Amino acid sequence: MPQYKAPLRDMKFLMNDVFDYPRHYAGLSSGENATPDIVEAILNECGRFCEEELSPLYQVGDEEGCKLENGEVTTPKGFKDAYNQYVMGGWQGLSAPEEFGGQGLPASMGLLKQEMMGTANWSFAMYPGLSLGAMNTIFLHGSDEQKQTYMVPLTEGRWGGTMCLTEPQCGTDLGQVKTKAEPQKDGTYKLTGTKIFISSGDHDLTENIVHIVLARLPGAPKGTRGISLFIVPKFLPTADGGVGERNGVNCGSLEKKMGIKASATCVMNFDDATGFLIGPENEGLECMFTFMNTARIGTAIQGVGPAELSYQWALEYAKDRRSMRALSGKKEPDQVADSLIHHADVRRMLLTQKAIAEGGRAMLYYAAKTADHMVEAHTAHDDEAAQKHDDKLGFLTPILKGFLTELGNEAANLGMQVFGGHGYIREHGMEQIARDTRIATLYEGTTGIQALDLLGRKVLLMTQGGAVREFTLKVANFARKHLTNSTLRPMAVELLKLTAQWNLLTVRVMLAARKDRDVVSAAAYDFLMYSGYVSMAYMWLRQAAVATDKLEKGGEESEAFYQTKISTAEFYYERLLPRAQSHATSMLSPTRNLMQIEADNLAFTG
Ligand SMILES: Cc1cc2nc3c(=O)[nH]c(=O)nc-3n(C[C@H](O)[C@H](O)[C@H](O)COP(=O)(O)OP(=O)(O)OC[C@H]3O[C@@H](n4cnc5c(N)ncnc54)[C@H](O)[C@@H]3O)c2cc1C
Repeated sequence: MPQYKAPLRDMKFLMNDVFDYPRHYAGLSSGENATPDIVEAILNECGRFCEEELSPLYQVGDEEGCKLENGEVTTPKGFKDAYNQYVMGGWQGLSAPEEFGGQGLPASMGLLKQEMMGTANWSFAMYPGLSLGAMNTIFLHGSDEQKQTYMVPLTEGRWGGTMCLTEPQCGTDLGQVKTKAEPQKDGTYKLTGTKIFISSGDHDLTENIVHIVLARLPGAPKGTRGISLFIVPKFLPTADGGVGERNGVNCGSLEKKMGIKASATCVMNFDDATGFLIGPENEGLECMFTFMNTARIGTAIQGVGPAELSYQWALEYAKDRRSMRALSGKKEPDQVADSLIHHADVRRMLLTQKAIAEGGRAMLYYAAKTADHMVEAHTAHDDEAAQKHDDKLGFLTPILKGFLTELGNEAANLGMQVFGGHGYIREHGMEQIARDTRIATLYEGTTGIQALDLLGRKVLLMTQGGAVREFTLKVANFARKHLTNSTLRPMAVELLKLTAQWNLLTVRVMLAARKDRDVVSAAAYDFLMYSGYVSMAYMWLRQAAVATDKLEKGGEESEAFYQTKISTAEFYYERLLPRAQSHATSMLSPTRNLMQIEADNLAFTG
């Protein structure tokens, strides 16, 4: 099975040439230490760690999976050693505040790290990823005492974290949460209830696990307004910050699942477990969703990562495997047949994967700059600026999460297809990528829920189309600047048309929704995908524009690198972007075609 290679050349092209991260970091207080040479050293070292330590554990992790014995979960062989190296490297604290032992680097640096780790081994990356969620929540909403107790061991990676939201009866609709929290005389709470599907709920990587749990206080209002948030540690912390008495929270069983088998997905039973309220009573959901935008960019990586990994392996295979002759004539006459790479249909699959991986990566890096500004404003307690950046990011995140994870699944499936029947056989690893990726459209809000968030909340309810107007204005201004360049003109013209169409579609959906409320739910998925294809087109024009410029004036990369960027952009515009039009058509079709069949008539079995 091939191994992961960190795509450092593409990452550096995006960071240095397309998005000018050196200047971006120079303008951030957290960017003081993110000088170009330090950033480069971190990327290189992270790439090495992912290639040499995490990638070799990818397949073994899948085969061995996690085990639950005597109430304790163990991770597959090699995970604990790799995790210890991760801790020793200080990776968990890369973007965490210095006051708690972190390195205080910008949030986007953490994202670059997550991209490489997640591509090399998504299951492994889940453990520190969930801890990051717990860290962010405690940092923003915890009391000083809670921060003192939990932030340092979490930042060092000695303790892990989880997010305990889902219960058997609800995942999306958290207003139905039933877990109870009874106040105690000493100011603590006793939590009782069952949470399911809890990632990293129990494992052997850290000395303690800090669960962030949604639960209800006695007499709390029904629905989402009656939910509070609690810290429930596996071991109660001692006064000196050590690990004390075992708490009443246990892993009841491990979920048997399709993929990410080395990530422990646990049923967690809370049985009079001691918990500590975090944030105000009954405002648990708001607290939980703070930083959700940055967390969702994290999950969007699970679209880009598998596209990259599956592409790397499929490309290697397509150069090696031979089958028949190219239609335009023999390409390798000395060989028994031409290699797969010479067939146009195989090219279609490979280039689709490449366009998704590199276009998606650009979308992530673009959004990550806004995430940096948001964190910076939060840290400076500049609420107005934080809100402004949060709104911008709030518009982009459902597109990133929903669209990129859908395309990541497509790319992973195409990778299997390039391998033919061998793609279905376990030893090549291609079916594992497809299985592991499938979850990405389901958790952290399904695609349908991301789509509703985008269209229903961010576009219609909160901004009456303003979010689309603001974003498309920026895109159109960029496109206009490139109308005179003969290479870029066709793409710029197309992008300009799409920015106008995006606004028009928004208005048409808004008007239709006033007459028929089902329109929002019916149009949401197509609206999300349309938005994704246009946003990715913007990213491809930005890359092609830089590459064109570099070809003229010279750059750090080879001519072939820049030329390939332009050719991939053309492929995207000519072969993938037309899909936006089918989404535009579907989005405007009447809800009648979805709703007119009576529920009882949807099947006539028996
Ligand atoms: C491997 C794995 C790891 C997970 N990790 C965690 C974790 O660490 N912590 C945690 O708390 N949870 C976790 N989850 C749970 C996950 O977040 C939920 O499964 C997910 O949010 C969906 O909830 P659900 O399964 O209850 O589906 P449902 O909410 O029942 O949704 C079912 C379907 O209906 C659609 N739907 C629901 N409501 C609407 C609506 N109003 N309008 C339109 N469509 C709708 C959904 O889009 C979906 O297609 C994990 C799940 C898995 C499988």
